Amino acid sequence: MTELPDRRMLLVHAHPDDESINNGATMARYAAEGARVTLVTCTLGERGEVIPAELRHLSGAALGGHRLGELKDAMRALGVEDFRLLGGAGRYCDSGMMGLPDNDDPGCFWQADVDQAAGALADVILETRPQVLVTYDENGGYGHPDHIQAHRVAMRAVELAAGQGWDIPKVYWNRVPRSVGEEAFARLGEDLAGLPFEKAGVLDDVPGVVDDGRVTTAIDGTAHAAAKAAAMRAHATQITVAEPYFVLSNDLAQPLFTTEYYELVRGERPQKPENDLFAGVGEAS
Ligand SMILES: [Zn+2]
Repeated sequence: MTELPDRRMLLVHAHPDDESINNGATMARYAAEGARVTLVTCTLGERGEVIPAELRHLSGAALGGHRLGELKDAMRALGVEDFRLLGGAGRYCDSGMMGLPDNDDPGCFWQADVDQAAGALADVILETRPQVLVTYDENGGYGHPDHIQAHRVAMRAVELAAGQGWDIPKVYWNRVPRSVGEEAFARLGEDLAGLPFEKAGVLDDVPGVVDDGRVTTAIDGTAHAAAKAAAMRAHATQITVAEPYFVLSNDLAQPLFTTEYYELVRGERPQKPENDLFAGVGEAS
């Protein structure tokens, strides 16, 4: 078996750009520290809305191909070499926003057989043997079908891999502590006049917001803020950045968090807040 580094993490995301928005600083930090960081993205985001007017002609597979290029650039910015599409590029396509007829496309991720998709992900787990897996909560953070499905597939793959010889010690969901979000949006309100964005978003639109007590782990990515911003900029069809804020295609400004937060949902809940996703398992092999 090939030699693996001591610390290994796997992130499971729905679309290219989700990894950089949610975990960009965390990925850059652990990659810089020599951990193996593996990203599995479930779709190419073929139904995403495109921001730049000059790229708005892209849709479907053409947009997916373009977004794969953006993902490569983002991974270069973060120093992450191992990134894959679940089942191979184009295996599952973007399901569109919840409630649209797109959700019925037989090739879309929302229509995927969870066990089959989880089997493909379990193969990646068995190959890379991560001590840490990061994904979304059961609502996918904010209700997008591909995010909900990414959650289901990731959690099922954890079970399948455990039955096949690799029991991941720590599983985390992406979070934003409510107090941190409230403070950041209050600051955004004061800063808005100086930003290239018309309107501020609201905290309710931010995925994964929970009461502070549920958050177990904070990763201070201040030292990797520039890498995170560069990775987000690489997803130019989806994101416009004006640090420390950004907008998606809805043009509503939101904070760009450089400290990233997590809730440990598999593994022993820590007594005190953690500042390292590998706390307690760094020596495991
Ligand atoms: Zn997404």
